[in-house]
Amino acid sequence: MARPGPADLPPKVHAAGNREEYLYFLTSGIVSRFYVTQSGASAEFAVTGNEGVIGVASFLGGNSTPSQAVVLSTGYSYRLPADRLKHEFAHDGPLPRLLLRYTQALIAQIGLISACKRHHALEQRLCRWILTCLDRLHTDELAITQGLIAAMLGVRREAVTKSAGNLQQARLLEFNRGRMVVLDRPGLEAHACECYTVVKREYVRLLAEYWKLEASSGRRRVIIRRSSVATCASRDFWVENSLQS
Ligand SMILES: [Zn+2]
Repeated sequence: MARPGPADLPPKVHAAGNREEYLYFLTSGIVSRFYVTQSGASAEFAVTGNEGVIGVASFLGGNSTPSQAVVLSTGYSYRLPADRLKHEFAHDGPLPRLLLRYTQALIAQIGLISACKRHHALEQRLCRWILTCLDRLHTDELAITQGLIAAMLGVRREAVTKSAGNLQQARLLEFNRGRMVVLDRPGLEAHACECYTVVKREYVRLLAEYWKLEASSGRRRVIIRRSSVATCASRDFWVENSLQS
């Protein structure tokens, strides 16, 4: 019998309006959730890495959202059919409790990003966005263009180039051929708006107890990977379903 293991993330995890048939529990990489307007403009409202799961509409009951979820940095995930999760929600197990807590953290992130766009300067927002991505990749480097960052932040590319130039001049980071490298992490954190720390604290407050359950295992018990919500109430679930693509 195959062991459960992470599968490649598809470039577009969920399209706008499509039924979310699977949940993706990320173990690496990051996924961006964003909206595209009729005119083609876009703006991100949440970024998710191995602290989270893509496909919350499937267990909240709505099955789809008007937003998209796409892979921003390639990685792996455990995939779980949404129908199997409904079975989990019929019982008061650890996985539903974890997913509800995660959803509250996600709502906090979405709410803060909404306020951030209205009240904080682009340079601060850029720092917040970079740090949020890097926290989820556990690295100081990100393969990304300034054009893609502009699309995620919902601003013009020229504006990102100007702000990035200021941050490079301050020796906080550098961009080079599609790669961004952080040179001074504490300096970047000091430059970011408060939203970065507020959201990070909220994720820790709501989810840290689950992250500590690393190595807990066995039938019908939650299995938590370090810094991840790649979990399931039943190990058999993953063995039978996770890699059937
Ligand atoms: Zn902010």
